[in-house]
Amino acid sequence: MGLKERFKEWDKTYVWHPFTQMKDWLESDPLVIERGEGVYLIDIYGRRYIDGVSSLWCNVHGHRHPLIDRAIKEQLEKIAHSTFLGLTHPPGAELAKRLVEIAPSGLKKVFYSDNGATAVEVALKMAFRYWQLKGESGRKKFISFVNAYHGDTIGAMSVSGIPLYTEAFRPLLFPSLRVHAPYCYRCHLRKTFPGCGMECLKELEEVLKKHHYECAALIIEPLVQGAAGMIVQPPGYLRRVWELCRHYGVLFIADEVATGFGRTGKMFACQHEGVTPDLMAVSKGLTGGYLPLAATLCTEEVFEAFLGEYHEFKAFFHGHTYTANPLACAAALGNLEVFEKERTLEKMSHKVDLLKKELEKFWNLEAVGDIRQKGFMVGIELVKDRDKKAPFSPEEKIGQKVVLAARKRGVIIRPLGDVIVLMPPLAIGEWELSLLVEAVYEAIKEVTER
Ligand SMILES: *Cc1c(COP(=O)(O)O)cnc(C)c1O
Repeated sequence: MGLKERFKEWDKTYVWHPFTQMKDWLESDPLVIERGEGVYLIDIYGRRYIDGVSSLWCNVHGHRHPLIDRAIKEQLEKIAHSTFLGLTHPPGAELAKRLVEIAPSGLKKVFYSDNGATAVEVALKMAFRYWQLKGESGRKKFISFVNAYHGDTIGAMSVSGIPLYTEAFRPLLFPSLRVHAPYCYRCHLRKTFPGCGMECLKELEEVLKKHHYECAALIIEPLVQGAAGMIVQPPGYLRRVWELCRHYGVLFIADEVATGFGRTGKMFACQHEGVTPDLMAVSKGLTGGYLPLAATLCTEEVFEAFLGEYHEFKAFFHGHTYTANPLACAAALGNLEVFEKERTLEKMSHKVDLLKKELEKFWNLEAVGDIRQKGFMVGIELVKDRDKKAPFSPEEKIGQKVVLAARKRGVIIRPLGDVIVLMPPLAIGEWELSLLVEAVYEAIKEVTER
């Protein structure tokens, strides 16, 4: 056995992979990624692949970006980690300042954690405790959406709504008031936008009307429900949800873990519709896809509720050992610097249009039922019967087959069931973008039109 083969052996012997049927994995020939370069991933044999989903939606400016590499190295020369409990450090303080500067207005404080799910947990706990401290301890409930995804910890799962991930654990979860989110391709009201006048908002309004006095907050993935299959909300929907929350005095939590840091074409999705959340969770793109770090931003109003004398114990009792890890904060500062220096968002808008144009031709493929795009978040929903919108059966593993067919063509993607996801790094060049789209087109064709 060559040295390289040994990694596969060790992996299969000792590792349990997330969201992976390990029986399939153990029968497979795993792809071992050894390095990265720009938008390319390179395996142990030196084969290059376009990173078509930004290493699970987090890479922003490509791999091995010199500026971010340097930011981390320079921090490493100083210190890798020191605690944020009772102490602070330069990158943690500076990053908080920078985040508040670019966040939707009104968000003034930054609470760090290490991943998207914990950033959501923090938001939920903050909202809940906020009302207690305001003397409204009856506000215990959260409003969440069908098909929402907020992470895999118990609290985050409680406000998530993808049955495949959460139902088995239902007895462990706290109940939340779950309302339908728009899924225009499969509208539960069988209406069509814009003729529908967003009738789906009525359900939310009813719930708010009836339950607002016992609700702490509503949590939403702004503009796009990512893990549900890149389900894009109709324009104006987010704004209306936010207005309703304000009207009924319920806190609004934006989970920008997937949509944040340019993925939708603006720094944050809320900024497309002038929405200023009370709490906002960010993670994936925060460090440019380099290191695990997350943050929950909140308003002065929320923050101030926690102020008091030591003996009143109003402090927010939450934290993690690696909260605000300095290396990760340095990476995040590097990430934001690249956004500025390379005018990433400006340069992206042309590429978003290009992508949109290239996606048009997917309609030629009989199995393509719906094409959804917001910025660089794309979902191509494959169906067995376009007219009936009938899905493939899970046994057919269509999504997985397309992934393998794309891999043969030098592209790494990961599907969500039968929704083929494209989420390239924002820095991808036009040439690579075309290669990516072409490879995925051919892959879908190969698998569905045999
Ligand atoms: C990925 C994701 C999360 C969870 O983030 P992790 O870092 O994987 O815990 C939460 N919310 C949304 C919208 C996400 O896409």
